[in-house]
Amino acid sequence: MSKHVYSFSAKSADGDGKMKELLGGKGANLAEMCKIGIPVPPGFTITTEVCAAYYDNNKKIPEDAIPQINEALAKMETAFGGKKFGDPADPLLVSVRSGAALSMPGMMNTILNLGLTDASVEGLAKKTGNARFAYDSYRRVIDMFGSTAMDVEHEEFEHEISKLKQEKNVKLDTDLSVDDLKELVKRYKAVYKKHVKDDFPQDPKKQLMLAINAVFNSWNGNKAIQYRRIERITNLKGTAVNVQAMVFGNMGDSSGTGVAFTRDPNTGENVFYGDYLINAQGEDVVAGIRTPEPIAKLNDQMPKVYKQLCEIRQTLEKHYKEMQDIEFTVQEGTLYMLQTRTGKRTGTAAVRIAVELVKEKLIDENTAVKRVAPDSLNHLLLPQLDPKATAKVIAQGIAASPGAASGKIVLSADAAVEHAEKFPNEPIMLVRKETSPEDVAGMHLAKGILTSTGGKASHAAVVARGWGKPCVVGCEAVKINEAAGTLTIAGQSAKAGDFITINGTTGDVMIGKVPTVAPTMTGDFATLMGWADKVRKLKIRTNADTPADAAKAREFGAEGIGLCRTEHMFFGDDRITAMREMILADTEEARGKALAKLLPYQKADFVGIFEAMAGYPVTIRLLDPPLHEFLPHDAQGQADVAKGLGISAAKVKERVEELHEFNPMMGMRGCRLPLVYPEIGDMQVRAIIEAAIEVKKKGKTVLPEIMIPLVGVVEELVILKKRAIQIADDCMAKAGTKVEYQIGTMIEIPRAALTADKIAEEAEFFSFGTNDLTQMTFGFSRDDIKGFMPTYLKEKILPIDPFQSIDVSGVGQLIELGVKKGRDSRKAKHDQHLKVGICGEHGGDPDSVVFCHKVGMDYVSCSPFRVPIARLAAAQAALGEAKRDK
Ligand code: ADP
Ligand code: MG
Ligand code: MG
Repeated sequence: MSKHVYSFSAKSADGDGKMKELLGGKGANLAEMCKIGIPVPPGFTITTEVCAAYYDNNKKIPEDAIPQINEALAKMETAFGGKKFGDPADPLLVSVRSGAALSMPGMMNTILNLGLTDASVEGLAKKTGNARFAYDSYRRVIDMFGSTAMDVEHEEFEHEISKLKQEKNVKLDTDLSVDDLKELVKRYKAVYKKHVKDDFPQDPKKQLMLAINAVFNSWNGNKAIQYRRIERITNLKGTAVNVQAMVFGNMGDSSGTGVAFTRDPNTGENVFYGDYLINAQGEDVVAGIRTPEPIAKLNDQMPKVYKQLCEIRQTLEKHYKEMQDIEFTVQEGTLYMLQTRTGKRTGTAAVRIAVELVKEKLIDENTAVKRVAPDSLNHLLLPQLDPKATAKVIAQGIAASPGAASGKIVLSADAAVEHAEKFPNEPIMLVRKETSPEDVAGMHLAKGILTSTGGKASHAAVVARGWGKPCVVGCEAVKINEAAGTLTIAGQSAKAGDFITINGTTGDVMIGKVPTVAPTMTGDFATLMGWADKVRKLKIRTNADTPADAAKAREFGAEGIGLCRTEHMFFGDDRITAMREMILADTEEARGKALAKLLPYQKADFVGIFEAMAGYPVTIRLLDPPLHEFLPHDAQGQADVAKGLGISAAKVKERVEELHEFNPMMGMRGCRLPLVYPEIGDMQVRAIIEAAIEVKKKGKTVLPEIMIPLVGVVEELVILKKRAIQIADDCMAKAGTKVEYQIGTMIEIPRAALTADKIAEEAEFFSFGTNDLTQMTFGFSRDDIKGFMPTYLKEKILPIDPFQSIDVSGVGQLIELGVKKGRDSRKAKHDQHLKVGICGEHGGDPDSVVFCHKVGMDYVSCSPFRVPIARLAAAQAALGEAKRDK
C-alpha cells in the first residue's frame, strides 16, 4: 500500500523539506520546520500524487487514501492536546491549504476554521469565553467554504456584511457586536442555501472531504491555469493538500497575524521586512482590506513574541541558507509559524542577497551565481526617473517594486487587455483599489501598477516584484470611480487614457510622462558579474551600430561587437539622399559617384565604433536589407526625392516598382546585393579597412571582421571574398600599413548550415543568424507570426515562440550540424579553429545561451542591455545548472 498522507507535529514529521515534488512546497517546509524545532500547529499533508490520482479517477479521491486521512486526523488531535475535530463542546478546527511544488501565490484557495457547525460554534464560544471570536470564525468559514468549495460568489457574502454594517451604522468589521455577527451567520447561511440549494453542512467530516476536493479542483481553476501559463510552469503532478490545526489570530488584542521576509525583497537589505495586523485572521493582511502595521512595531505591542520571531528569522536563514518568506499567527501571546518558503524578490534584491550570503559564509560564489535568474537582472537595468526631471510628486504610496514607469491609465485588468489589443505599443499603467488573482493577465501587460490600498505583501506588490515591474501600493490619495472611468489623485482629477508616472523605488506618483534614465553597473552587481565571468566559457559580445551603444555595452561587460548592422548608417539626412541617388542611378559610373559620397560617412561611423571597442573584435555586416526599404512608397515622398535629385517623379516611381518584390525577405538582399552591384560591397569594405588603418595609426588595437550575410552557396562567398581582399590590399598599399582583418559569413539559410563544411573552407568565422535561420527553417515569415503564433502556443503545437528562444529540436540541429561540419573542415583544410558565434535576439535569451554553450560556440552577441543577462546565463550554463524559476 502506498503512503498518501504525511503527518507533521512538534519536533517530528514523516516528510521533510526535500520532498517538494510529493508534498508541495508548503507541506515539505511545514515538515522541515517541525523537524528543526520551530513551533508549527500539527497537521498532515495529502500528496500531489493523490491529486493526480484524483484527476485520473474521475475526480474522486482514491479509496485507500481515506483511512490514512482518518488516521492522520486522529494523530493531529492527540498532538494538539487531545481536542477532537468538530467536538460540539470544545472543537478542534482545521485549515485546508493547497500547495504545489512551485509556489503559486494566491492562485489556489485556502479554507480556514473548518469543523465549525451550529452546535460547535456555541461550544467554542463557551470554551473560549469569546462569543465574538466564535461567531466571527463561523461566518468566515461559511464564506470561505461557500466560495471556495461550492462556487458561491464571494461578493454575495461581502454584500451582506456591507449591508449589515450600513444598517448598524458602523465602519469596521470589528465594530460589529456578537448579536450582529449571529445575524450575519444567519444571512450567510441563507446566501449559501440560495446558491448551493442545500444547507451549510453540519457534519465536520463532510466539510473536510468537500474542502479537500475543492483544493484539488482549484488546481485546474482558471486562475491557476493562467498563472502556470504566464510563468511557463509545466510538468507538475498537481497540488498537495495540507490539513492543519487552526490557531487563531482573531482572539483579541493579544492575537494577530502577519507575513514577513527575512530580508527586504525590494532592495535585498538585511533587515526584517513585513506587516502584521492585530486581531485578524489569515488573508486579512494580504488582501489589502485593512492597511497593516510594519513588523518592527510588533516590538512595541508584543516584545516577547517579536524577540522569538527574530530568533526564528535567524534560524530559518541559517538552515535554508536563503532568504525566506514567512507567515505567522499569534494566538493569545503564543507564536505559531504557518509557512516558510524561498522569498520572491526583485532582481536588485536577488543580487544583493546572493552577494551578502557569500560574505556571511552561508553559500559559495558559484552558488550565488546560480541563485540569480538571468532575466531578473532586467530589474537592475530598469530605467530610473531622470534626476534632472522636474516632475511634481502629487502623492506618495508604499514603494512595493522598484523602477520607474509611465503609462496611460487603465482602471481594470480587462481594460488593460483591451487597450493592449488595440494599441500594442502604448505603455499602460494599471490603477486599481487593489488587485486579485483574477487580474494577472492585465497586470502582466501593464508597465507598472498603482493601487490605493494594501501593503508590501499585498497581491499587487508580490506579483509585481515577481515580474520586476514597478509598483506602488497603498496610495490612499488615489480615489477611483471605475464606472465613470475617472479618478482623483490628491484632489487632482484624471481619467483613463491620461499619462501617469510612478516611481516604485520611492513610492512617488506623478501626473504625466516623466523622462527616465538608464542605470549603471556598480557594487554588488559588479561583484556578482565578476564571479560569473570567472566560470563562464562563452564570450559575450554585443549588437551595436553606434559608438554610444558600443560604449554602453562595454560598460556592461561586452567583449566585442558580434553584429554591427550597416543599414542604419544610410538613413541620416545627407546619407539617405546619396543612398537614393545610388539606387536610382542607371550606370555603374553614376552609382560609383553616389557611393563615393557615402564613403566618408561610413568610414567615420566605423572609426567611432572601432575606437569605442578598441582591443576587441568588431564584426561588421555588409548591407543586408532589400533596396526598396530606402525609397519612399508614397507619391509625395517620391516627388520630394525626384525634386532633390533633379529627376522626374515618374522615374522614381518606376524604380520603386522595379524593386518591388513579392517576398522581399527572400529576394534581392544580403550577399545578392554586392553580387549584382559590386560597387556597394567595395565601398563598404573600403570604408572598413580605411577606418581600421586610421584607428590603428592612433595606436589603438582594431580587429575588424567583415561579415557577408545570407550566404547559401559557397561560390557566393568565393567571389565576394576575393573582391574584398583586393580592396583591402589596395587600401593597405595606399596607406603603406597593414591591419589584421577576417572575412566570414552568417549562417542563416538552412543550405548554409547543411554545406557548412564547404563554406568553412572559405570563411574564417561563422555567425549564426538565428532570426533568419528560424524563419527559413520553419517557413514562418517572422514579421507575420501574429496571426497564428498565439494559436500555436495555446494549442501547444510549439512550446515557445521560436523567435524568442531557439527551437532546439529543429533549428538547433542545423546549428549543431553547422558548427561541427564547419569546425572539422576548417581544421582539416587550414588547421585553424573556426570561430563561431550567434547574433540576433536569441543571443540575449538565457535558454538559448545555454544551448550555445552546449554546442561549443565561442561567443554570443546580444543587445547592450542584455549583456549582463547573457554573462550570467553563460556562467550558469558552465556550472551546469541554470536557474529556471523566476
Ligand atoms: P497561500 O498559499 O495563499 O499563502 P495559505 O495556505 O498559506 O495560502 O493560507 C493563507 C493564510 O491562512 C495563512 O497565511 C494564514 O494566515 C492562514 N492560515 C492557514 N492555515 C492556518 C492555520 N492552521 N491556523 C491559522 N491560520 C491559518
Ligand atoms: Mg501562505
Ligand atoms: Mg539575417
